[in-house]
Order: sequence, then structure tokens, then C-alpha cells
Amino acid sequence: MNYNNNDTQKLSLYSYTAFVHNPRHMTTLTTHIPGYPRIGANRELKWALEKYWKNTITADELLETASQLRQRHWQQQHEAKLSFVATNDFSLYDQFLDTACTFGIIPERFQHDGGKLDLDLYFTLARGNQQHPALALTKWLNTNYHILVPEVSDNVPFRLDAQRILDEAQQALDLNYNPKPVIIGPVTLLSIARPATPDDEQTPLKRLGEILPLYAQLLKQLADLGVEWLQLDEPILSTDISVAQSDALATAYQYFAEQAPEIKILLASYFGKLSNNLNRCLTLPVAGLHFDAVNSPEDCLTAARYLTDDRILSIGIIDGRNIWLNDLTKSSDYIQKIRETIPDHRLWLSSSSSLQYVPHSLNKENNIPAEILPWLSFAEEKLGELTLLANAFSKNKDSSAFEKNQAILKSRQQTTGTIIPSVRKRVKNELPTLNLKRPPFAQRQLAQKESLNLPLIPTTTIGSFPQTKDIRQQRAAFRNGKISHAQYETFLQQKTRDCIHKQEQLGLDVLVHGEFERNDMVEYFASGLEGFCVTDYGWVQSYGSRCTKPPIIWGDVHRPRPITLAWSKFAQSCTDKPVKGMLTGTTTILQWSFLRNDLPRTLVSQQIALALRDEILDLEKHGINIIQLDEAALREGLPLREDERQAYLDESRDSFLISTSGVSDSTQIHTHMCYSQFDAIFETIIELDADVISIETTRNRMALLDTFSKHGYPNQIGPGIWDIHSPRIPSTEEMVELLKKALHYIPAERLWANPDCGLKTRAWKETLASLENLTKATKLVRESLLAAK
Ligand code: GLN
Ligand code: ZN
Repeated sequence: MNYNNNDTQKLSLYSYTAFVHNPRHMTTLTTHIPGYPRIGANRELKWALEKYWKNTITADELLETASQLRQRHWQQQHEAKLSFVATNDFSLYDQFLDTACTFGIIPERFQHDGGKLDLDLYFTLARGNQQHPALALTKWLNTNYHILVPEVSDNVPFRLDAQRILDEAQQALDLNYNPKPVIIGPVTLLSIARPATPDDEQTPLKRLGEILPLYAQLLKQLADLGVEWLQLDEPILSTDISVAQSDALATAYQYFAEQAPEIKILLASYFGKLSNNLNRCLTLPVAGLHFDAVNSPEDCLTAARYLTDDRILSIGIIDGRNIWLNDLTKSSDYIQKIRETIPDHRLWLSSSSSLQYVPHSLNKENNIPAEILPWLSFAEEKLGELTLLANAFSKNKDSSAFEKNQAILKSRQQTTGTIIPSVRKRVKNELPTLNLKRPPFAQRQLAQKESLNLPLIPTTTIGSFPQTKDIRQQRAAFRNGKISHAQYETFLQQKTRDCIHKQEQLGLDVLVHGEFERNDMVEYFASGLEGFCVTDYGWVQSYGSRCTKPPIIWGDVHRPRPITLAWSKFAQSCTDKPVKGMLTGTTTILQWSFLRNDLPRTLVSQQIALALRDEILDLEKHGINIIQLDEAALREGLPLREDERQAYLDESRDSFLISTSGVSDSTQIHTHMCYSQFDAIFETIIELDADVISIETTRNRMALLDTFSKHGYPNQIGPGIWDIHSPRIPSTEEMVELLKKALHYIPAERLWANPDCGLKTRAWKETLASLENLTKATKLVRESLLAAK
């Protein structure tokens, strides 16, 4: 293959951008990113949104903040010398919601007249209001980001409203940037969308033919503005797609090639390997393909070999999902391999996915240990890495940056704490000797009945109680040194004591301490474990204005001292009722942290699991006989590909068993999972063998219990009877009805009554009223059961 850089004819066609940007250094590769974080380095978008929702700023002020953020992010890409700036990667709430609005996918129930969509309807779709429940939220493939699920009503015609996308592109052009709009592709959009009528067997994909002309129109309009390249995202290619989806891809991209030849399409897939979908990709008539070279380096190597020689290959070599410094030498070796088959003007460099899954910038981090800081790279730093790699094959190569990069990676290998021999030894020697199987459930149930003496259908909550403003203020005051540790402790003790007394008054059977000392269910444990560090500003958008701050796992994990024991003991000392010890499980900790990319996940999982085992045994030793290990993220971590799932599930199960199997029969282990899709993980749920599992069943009106009983779930279950995602106070009657429904599936001896999830986000008023109804409802059901005996 010819990769002569002076092949001007090809250049004029396919490497216009690289040519314009680098007239002299032809071997500098073209660079771009599939998207940038949008929340703002100071979470400007969050604050503006929340103010707008509270009516303290106007729509114009909100839109002005959004516009400034976009401009700042383009400027950063430009200053980092990327060849393009990504446009339409910004969203006021979510990119799927935006795409739905662009194509008029507004469910009939919102009674939209089809005219221009205003901001208020946009946010009603996102957040719901009194009359209209919001669109459903779902996890975006295997990320922790949640998208809004477009709802396709058969009677609502698709219509195009592309003004926002066009305006953004125009704005970027006016600023002399080279915009590459990023849009969700039609097949992924319609595959993720749901029919508005839930029992409609046909998926929205059946309406592909109706949406394609609108996409083509949009493509043409962008071309008319002077946009050369457009990125269409089809990450369903990293899942096991059906024949219908594969055919839909062929139809869609053939259609665009015919109807909108004026614009060049970069078809992007990311988040995982393409496997057998790679063939499908290679046959699509698009001008370029973008693949995730971090999660699946093989895909790009294969693609490079088979890609016809009129097309671009964009390799996602910088990790869009993790925060570790790129190994520049390793990456350039990899790129070099691809350069052997693909000429430079057809080779683009990129991040594997949008950078929206990593925090903005390391700039403001003051508390990450000095030796760890250089190992990291957030979105802003990743832009710089891209340019270093793009220059690696030209005379612009920054050799000293490469040398420095190697030195840092070397020091990372050698830093004390990365590998701790005693921790490794413990995993190696102790783990195989553990008996992970507890005695049969029936035997444990008997022992627990005796020791705990709980009533029929015990009542409990999931752990947290309202995190009110005063708590956040005191936490901030403590963090900023304005109050002493002792003052903060006293404050938290007061809160905890209060919470215990309120639960006693409500007549709950198993109490919790309220989790007031925790800012976050993962960060709290990360702060108590060695091998983790936490950031000050490492916020990543979860959905809308919500962000999380994932901790960083940088070395071998162990527990230098008990983490939760003091608070559990304190809470237990305030009451004669049992107080549940509250822990976050290994899979959830791993799933919601940034795991160091050269540490084996299974090993870290075993280390965390052992630390939690020690914590559980400490709790037990100090008289805490009911202990809950939350696994809120177990379902969402499930790999996209069928063939990778079992290994993940086995690892998750083992970690749970490592943590819980050491207790005596009379200690009751609970787990909690706040979601309602269990199909793919059911076997594992049974294998966890928790004595009690609490789940989310209010919105699905106990339908989930049908699955539990069909699978013959043998242990105790606490189906949620209060939807805590809404401020609404459920009535006693409603909860009685739900409990009675639950009794169709689960015998009373194995049934608990509790809310769907923790109460952290609720206010006290609705919490007390709802829990009062919950205990009343349970009492009524109990009495009717006893009367029937
Ligand atoms: N124990 C946690 C709480 O109550 C559980 C939260 C969760 O499942 N997401 O807040
Ligand atoms: Zn939950």
C-alpha cells in the first residue's frame, strides 16, 4: 500500500483537515475527540440548571452559561491543537433527550403540538411534573452515565428540528474552528428507544424508514453550512446485535451515502469490542470509522488491514473512560503498527469514547498525593496527550515529553504501596483456605429467629436518612477547618441519636444509624481503605445535574483500621432494638471507582472483599448481628457481551461470599439492590446466599417478585413498598395492597417491609409520614395474617 504523503489527489479528498492545519509537517496526524465533558470544571452547568429549576435565574442566563461552557471547551480543544472541535456533544441534560427532541420523538402523553419545543417541555421530559412522569432513565450501555430513554408513540410523526445543532456548528465556524458535530446514529437511537405502549412487541426500529430522510436532511443542512465531517455514534456495535439491527445499519448508511453524499460520515463505535460486528462496519459506505482501541486494540489492527483505501480510520487510543496517564511509547508503537498498513492522511487519533466519563481537569486538585498526581490524566490533560501522539511521527515529536512519560510510568511501578507483599500474600494464602459456603439457609434462619426474635414481616429501611442542609454545611465546615473534629463528631452523634429515636418512635423493627457521616456510599469506604485516594473536584456527570466523584484505586487495597465500627457501635448504644451495620459491597466499590489500568481487577476485587470481611467480623464481634452489604451497581456492571458475563458474575459472587461467609449462623446478612432488572443476574443473586435481599418493587408493582418466585428464590426478601424517588407520601392503603400482592409470591415468614432505597435525598417531613404509613400498613397485614390462622 502506498503511503506517500505527497499523494495530493488523495490529500485533497481525504486529508483536507490535516493539510490545512499542518501544511509543512505532513506526518502530524489528524486528531479529534468524540465528545468533551459538559458539566464544567466548576460544575457551572449543574449550578445553573439547579438555579433555573428553582426560578432564580432566567432561561437566557442558563443558555448563556451553556454557551460559555461550549466555547471554553472548544477553545481548549483548539489550544491543544486538535484538528477538530466536537460540537453537539454538549447537552443541557442528556444527549439522548436532545436527539429525541431533534427528531420530534415526544411521547403522545405529553400532548406536544409538534411546534417548536420550549425549554420547559424539555425539562418536563427529563424530570417529569405533577401530571407527567418523566422519560425513563437507563444506564448508558456499560457506563455509569444515565440516559433518558426516548419513547416512541406510534401516532406521533417524526419531524426534524435541527436548529440547535446547526446553530452550534455555525457558532464554531464563526469562531474559526473546524466543527465536527456528534450525533447519535439512527440505529442506536431506535434500538435504545422504547415503544410508548409497553406491550408493543415491535421495537421502534421498525420506523427506521421514517427517520432516515430526516437524518439525511440534517446531514445536508450541515454540509450547506460548510461542515465537512460529521460523527454518527453507533455504539450498539459493541453489543451482541440482532440480524435486524445489522440490516438496519446497512440500510441506514447506504441511504445516507446516496442521499447526502455532500458530507463525510465518521461512524463511531466505542465501549467494547466489535467482534463479529466488525465485518458489518467494514462494509458500510461511510467515509471513516472510529473504533475503541483501548478496550479492543485488535479491532483497529484488523480494520486497518481490510479497510478500502479511500477511508479514514480513527483510532481511539486515549482512554475516554479512565484517568490514567497514557503510555505514550506503547501507544506510538501501536500506531506505528497501523501506519504500516494505512497512510498517515487516512489515520486519525482520538480518545476511545467521549471524555464525558472522566473529570474535567487536574488543575484544581490539591489533595491527591504528590507522587500519584503525575500518574493521572483527566479530560483536559488527555487533549495534550493526543497532540503528543499525533506529533510522534513528525519532526515535531516532543521527545522529552515521551521520556518524562516513561519515567513517570516507571515510578508508578516502583512506588511503595503499589504492590504490598503482605496483602498479596494474604490473597494467595488465605483465600484458598476460606470456606465460602455458609451452612444451609434453613439452619441459619432458625438460628436467627432465635437470636433476633423479629416479628412477622419485620420493618426496616435501606440505610441512609435525609442528608439535610445542616449536615452538608457542617461537613463543609469541617473540611475547611472551620470546626474541629470533635465538634463535627458531636454534631454527627446528635444526628445519629436523633435518627435512632425517630425510628424507635415509628416502631421500626430493625434500625439503621442513618449514614450521616458518609458523603457517598463509595467514597466513604475509599477514604477508609489504603490503596485508594479521592479527589476534590473529580466530578463526573451521572445524569442531568447529578455528578459523582469516583475514587481512584492506585495500589493494593487493605484496611488499616475498622471503618464503620465506631458509628455502628455508637448507634447500637442508643437503643435496645437491633441496628443494622451498613457496608458497600466490592462490586459496587469497583464499579464506581477508577481502577488502576495495570492492576488485575480480580485481584483488587479479592483485596477489597477481604477488607470488608474483616469489617464484617469486627461488627459481629461487637454485637452487630445484622449486617447489610449493598450491591447497588452489580447489575450495571454486567458486560455488554454475553461471552464476558459469566466471568464478571463469578467474580462478583466470589467477592460477596469472601466478605460474608465468615459470620456465625445467627448473624443475618442483608444485601440491597435498587433496580428492577434481574433477569441476566438471577443465578448470581441466588448464589450470593444473603439471608435477606431488599429490592425495588414499588413502580413495577411487585412484578419483580414474580421473577423471584419463578426462579424459586429461597431466602428472605424485602420488596420496596415506597417509591423513594418521588416526594409523594404513599398511603397506608397503598402499602397494604402492595404487601398483600407480595404475599402472593412470598410466604410471610420470608417477607420484609421496607422502602425501595435509601432516604438520603428525601426530606424529613415526607420521610416520617411515609414510614409511619409503612409501619401501620405492615401492622395491619400482620394482624390480618394472624387472625386468619
Ligand atoms: N445504604 C445506601 C443508602 O441507604 C444504599 C444506597 C443505594 O442502594 N444506592 O443510601
Ligand atoms: Zn438502593
